[in-house]
Amino acid sequence: MKPTIEYIKQKFEEYNVLCFGGKLPLPAFQLSNARTFLGQVAYKRTKRPDGSWHYSDFVFKISSKTERPEDVVQDTILHEMIHYYILYNQLQDTSSHGVIFRKMMNAINQRFNRNITVSHNDTKEEKEADTERRQHLICVSQLNNGQKGITIAAKTRLFDLWDELPRISIVKECKWYVSTDPYFNRFRRTLTAKIYRIQQDELEEHIANARELIRQGNRIWTAPKNETGE
Ligand SMILES: [Zn+2]
Repeated sequence: MKPTIEYIKQKFEEYNVLCFGGKLPLPAFQLSNARTFLGQVAYKRTKRPDGSWHYSDFVFKISSKTERPEDVVQDTILHEMIHYYILYNQLQDTSSHGVIFRKMMNAINQRFNRNITVSHNDTKEEKEADTERRQHLICVSQLNNGQKGITIAAKTRLFDLWDELPRISIVKECKWYVSTDPYFNRFRRTLTAKIYRIQQDELEEHIANARELIRQGNRIWTAPKNETGE
C-alpha cells in the first residue's frame, strides 16, 4: 500500500489511544517522496539556558514513494509516534534511538505484537523495488586493502568530492562514472566524502554499463563509450 494522509491520521488516532494513553495532540501530517527514509518527525529545537533542548513545530512525515506492506507502514507510524512522544514531552533521550526510545519500542512490540525497529532503512527487497531510472554520479574507490568502495555524490558536491575522496588515507585510487542503473538507487547520495564498502562482483556487474567521467580543471564530461573499458 501507499499511505494517504487520511490513513496515517486514522492510525495515529487509533495508536494514540491504544499505546500512548491518548495523550498526543495531532501534529501536522505530511506525505513525503523521500527514498531515504520511511518516516520522520521534523521539528524545531532551541537550546534552553540549562543546555537541554526544547522541541516544537512538529511535522509528522511518512513516505508514500514506494509500495510497502501495510504492517510495515503501521510499524513506521508507530516508530515515528515514539519519536513524537519523546519530543512532545521534552524528554531528553541519550540519542535519537536512545534508552527511552528502545524501552518504549520494546514495550509496544511485546504488548501489541508489533515489529517496530530502530532502523529507518529499507529492507533489501524494498531497495530492489525502487526501479526508477535517475542519474547517479559515482566514485569507485580502490582501497589499500584490496576492497572497493563506492560514493554517490550529490551533484552540487561533485568537484569537491572529486578532490576530497583521493585524499582519504585508505583510498588508493578513484574513478568516476555516471550511470542510470536503478541498482545505484539504494545508496544514499552524499554531501561528504563517505565511502560504502561494496562487493567487487556486484559492483562490476553494474558499473559495466556506466560511462566514465573525465575531468580537466573545472570541466567534467562523459568519456566516449569505447574508453570506459579497462
Ligand atoms: Zn527513528
